[in-house]
Amino acid sequence: MKAHDGMYIDGAWRPADGRDTIEVVNPADEQVIGKVPAGNALDVDTAVRAARAALRGWAATPPAERAARLAALRDVLVARKDEIADTVTAELGSPPKLSQAVHAAAPIAVAGSYAELAATYVFEEKVGNSVVHHEPVGVVAAITPWNYPLHQIVAKVAPALAAGCTIVLKPAEDTPLTAQLFAEAVHEAGVPAGVFNLVTGLGPVAGQALAEHPGVDLVSFTGSTAVGRRIGATAGAAVKKVALELGGKSANVILPSADLARAVNVGVANVMSNSGQTCSAWTRMLVPADRYDEAVELATEAAAKYGDRIGPVVNAKQRERVRGYIEQGVAEGARLVAGGPEAPREQGYFVAPTVFADVTQDMTIAQEEIFGPVLSILRYTDEEDALRIANGTVYGLAGAVWAGDETEAVAFARRMDTGQVDINGGRFNPLAPFGGYKQSGVGRELGAHGLSEYLQTKSLQF
Ligand code: NAD
Repeated sequence: MKAHDGMYIDGAWRPADGRDTIEVVNPADEQVIGKVPAGNALDVDTAVRAARAALRGWAATPPAERAARLAALRDVLVARKDEIADTVTAELGSPPKLSQAVHAAAPIAVAGSYAELAATYVFEEKVGNSVVHHEPVGVVAAITPWNYPLHQIVAKVAPALAAGCTIVLKPAEDTPLTAQLFAEAVHEAGVPAGVFNLVTGLGPVAGQALAEHPGVDLVSFTGSTAVGRRIGATAGAAVKKVALELGGKSANVILPSADLARAVNVGVANVMSNSGQTCSAWTRMLVPADRYDEAVELATEAAAKYGDRIGPVVNAKQRERVRGYIEQGVAEGARLVAGGPEAPREQGYFVAPTVFADVTQDMTIAQEEIFGPVLSILRYTDEEDALRIANGTVYGLAGAVWAGDETEAVAFARRMDTGQVDINGGRFNPLAPFGGYKQSGVGRELGAHGLSEYLQTKSLQF
């Protein structure tokens, strides 16, 4: 795998001040595939200064020209799609088909959506005797996780570029090669020097220095709730804007009138995809008591099909974390009907597709985000009980409702405390706002709502 030994700052690859490096490991075979520099506070400062120096020029660039750069970026991503998919497979361990269909395809769709939005968005509007200008927030710190390495980056960088902001990206330490490839794509797309900058490095060093830097106007973070809370507190103290995409424990609610087999099969596929490392995954399946045994049987059969189809989890620490949750599920009295804590392979950070039945609301595996291929199946007595369970966690990121009749599913979805609900399956929509209620986050990504996070308003009265 190709790895740069510098940082992409001010339009060029430059040597890092930090001497340390980060080894990139393929989680499927535990082999080292490359190494990247671990940036320090000085590297972060150099990148923030470059972004600040480029801000006025980029903010004043007509939206049509910003749209043209985004369209060019999308075209580069399309041209390099196979390389993107191969890189994600190498550093995340995702199966090649998933890397093509999701890890490479979703960011292309998102970059394309922002090329269109930048061209059509109303950046200036008349309100009574005022003209309201939607201006860029300024220098953006984008801190991203490894689970969808390129999507998480593009979901921040594309709207920031569309808005006229300049950016410093600190990607996850497990997946820096995808981020370096993205920096090459931004360069190839003709985005001016300093508008986009990349600093690879460790979260508590480079990430923290970036979040705390006084030259940053907005911190946009996706990752764990623990780090998100800290970033929110730091930003609050500095009265700095913040957008947080955090964890989830989403409910897949199967109402009595639903096609049970379809709802269970799609539900299991949703949890197992990307080895369960999806913040919006439907990790709790809610089933009516009188269909419970049937649903458990269907889910057990469905999980068996994923045995050798899913990839590993991202690293050894994450595998131990997931195994710990599985052991805790058993210890708290849930019934293991598929998978378990034993490693299914000798090499690679694999976890067996795991399904728990007889899960109750108070159990750890019904409350905490596991971030692995683990499904918890809960029973409910009536709709009110289902709603109480669905809304009964600190999270509210996503969810699903299945019913024979769409109207019935929509009525239930409207009562869920969550930011996004798929009705009878749903389909990814790059224009639909994505983000959390409750402790799942602050702010929205994607579409026009995502763009507005990177804008601030100024009104002129006449
Ligand atoms: P994390 O929050 O530790 O890392 C996310 C990003 O934040 C990385 O780029 C990391 O380097 C950076 N970071 C870490 N500490 C920082 C600090 N003190 N200051 C600034 N930046 C910092 O998450 P993780 O270790 O990658 O994953 C742990 C858990 O997070 C997962 O098990 C899962 O529950 C959750 N997660 C959620 C999402 C999501 O999309 N919501 C994505 C990945 C992980």
